[in-house]
Amino acid sequence: MPQRKKSPRWSIKSAIDYYSIHRWGGDYFSVNTSGELICMPDRNKKTAISLMDVVREAKKRGLSFPLQVRFQDLLRDRVRTLNENFNQSIAEQGYKNIYRGVFPIKVNQLREVVEEIVDAGIPYQYGIEAGSKPELVAALWAHEAPESLIVCNGYKDEGFIRLALLGQKIGKTVIIVAEKFDEFERIIAIAKAMKVTPTIGLRVRLQSKSSGKWAGSSGDRAKFGLSSSEILAAVELLQEQEMLHCLKLLHFHIGSQIPDIRNLNQAAREAARHYTKLKKMGVPLEYLDVGGGLGIDYDGSKSNYHSSINYSLEEYCRSIVYHIMTICDEEGIDHPIIVSESGRAIVAQHTVLIVEAFGSVEKRRDSKLLTLGDDEHKLIGELLHMQKELSEENLDESYHDLLQVREEAIRLFDTGNLDLLSKAKVENLYWDICDKIVELSGNCDVVSEDITELRATLSDQYLCNFSIFQSLMDNWALNQIFPITPIHRLNKRPTNPATLADITCDSEGKIDEFVDLRDVKKNLLLHDIDEGPYYLGFFLVGAYQDVMGDQHNLFGRVNEAHVFLDEDEEDGFYIEEVIPGSTITQVLESTQYDPNTLMRTLKQNIAKAIKADLVKPNEGMKLLEEYKTALSSYTYLTGK
Ligand code: PLP
Repeated sequence: MPQRKKSPRWSIKSAIDYYSIHRWGGDYFSVNTSGELICMPDRNKKTAISLMDVVREAKKRGLSFPLQVRFQDLLRDRVRTLNENFNQSIAEQGYKNIYRGVFPIKVNQLREVVEEIVDAGIPYQYGIEAGSKPELVAALWAHEAPESLIVCNGYKDEGFIRLALLGQKIGKTVIIVAEKFDEFERIIAIAKAMKVTPTIGLRVRLQSKSSGKWAGSSGDRAKFGLSSSEILAAVELLQEQEMLHCLKLLHFHIGSQIPDIRNLNQAAREAARHYTKLKKMGVPLEYLDVGGGLGIDYDGSKSNYHSSINYSLEEYCRSIVYHIMTICDEEGIDHPIIVSESGRAIVAQHTVLIVEAFGSVEKRRDSKLLTLGDDEHKLIGELLHMQKELSEENLDESYHDLLQVREEAIRLFDTGNLDLLSKAKVENLYWDICDKIVELSGNCDVVSEDITELRATLSDQYLCNFSIFQSLMDNWALNQIFPITPIHRLNKRPTNPATLADITCDSEGKIDEFVDLRDVKKNLLLHDIDEGPYYLGFFLVGAYQDVMGDQHNLFGRVNEAHVFLDEDEEDGFYIEEVIPGSTITQVLESTQYDPNTLMRTLKQNIAKAIKADLVKPNEGMKLLEEYKTALSSYTYLTGK
């Protein structure tokens, strides 16, 4: 029997708890007394920016939604936090060398993001990691701090190696990490031809495995890295070529978003063991590069669930330093310079995608035809009785009876014994009673599985102006959960259980799993959308999502606003830069349509239509003008 519970008063704290805001938002996100979501991008300054103020400012600047907001100060805060934590761990534990991190540009290549990170990293000699030729070109351009590194990962052809050596020639420390044996042969040959002394690294294929969604980067079937015998062959080759002195770095990467710290510790120990053994063989290694993998607590559960992590950034830094130090001390080898390639942990939090929910998918519609009379089908009578008797005490029983009546209605319709009008009336009553069951179940502490499922089925589907394929790729491809929260009206109780649907013509374009402390929620309580524009924030989306987004339905890139803290401004911030999202012309050009040809063809068609007297000349010219305007407009819904 369900137990009744009292519904407590809704408060800002209720919103923070319900949406787990402090759990995934850490010190960066909270809610102000007006019920608006706020961001504190710089934890030293504590200035809070209301996301609704950003929305209002963006609207004044003519920007429409979806809108990607980047908090540039938050990027700086992350760079500081990572570097200072490594430095502190080194000092506290008496580690006898330094930390030299690099930012893997693949996680977010946007120039403004890279520039901000590089600039914030200058005091720490923070460098860049590149995994392809275009990334290396960007890295060579953006690189600033003289002592910092450029680490080149990924498969390399001659062009990639030549670019890296060009960087080395102009005085930068570019480390070419060989991912497989034959890359050594290539690096040696090209370096000799270019008369450069290369700085070489090697990626070791560890046995230590990660868990979670990106576990495939490690273990025997990993795509990258050298096995023990290949490492020995590489050392032999370098020796023969009198280039062993060039081998300076040992690298590993067991996957991104590693949920369990024990996997990281194990990998650090295994790599440190390789480092020390190679040193003992006379390989003059100086750097141990622990790759990426430092995760983000997307669901705030602090667990080893794939959307979470069971450790903090502080613990990560302490553990890496500790395990490398312990193994080196055990083997009597000097401590290496520690390099890490954290990407996600640097950029995930700085971006919020703001989307507008503009409607919902309906299951039914009332009509005069469906008004109940005195002489209705017997099934309708049964449903009306059920509706009257429904209470918190008989929810499950009523629901089971309800299902039976509905099945009976379907059977009768199938056999031609129920007319369409009565069927529609049964359906409407069915949904009314379901609604009531779900409403009453909200007062119960414990509900059955059937009713939990019914709640999910009954959720409204809020239509949101965005494309999951462009802006939330990992949610679609890997079911990765991202925190989603209304960014206003949080002082009011949300009453509608909802899932989200995007605007692509694809039934996969939906979100129906949401952050929860235990497992996932199958719907999210949201507010009515009838009371004016309703904005939702998709949080922690700054890593990988927009760069991996595709052109499904040709929606393309979204509008962007880059926000900077400024205490002199009334709202504590200003929008320094606006990057317009894709226009219709741009996405069509990217798929080989020529805008001039499009215009010319329409002009010809209009001329023909005028000749055939389908349109008047004046109207034809207006249509042409409208088409021209459409070509230069935003691809997403703009309400116009
Ligand atoms: N380094 C390498 C070689 C990678 O492949 C990746 C991404 O998978 C990273 C660093 C960045 O990892 P993360 O974003 O988990 O820090």
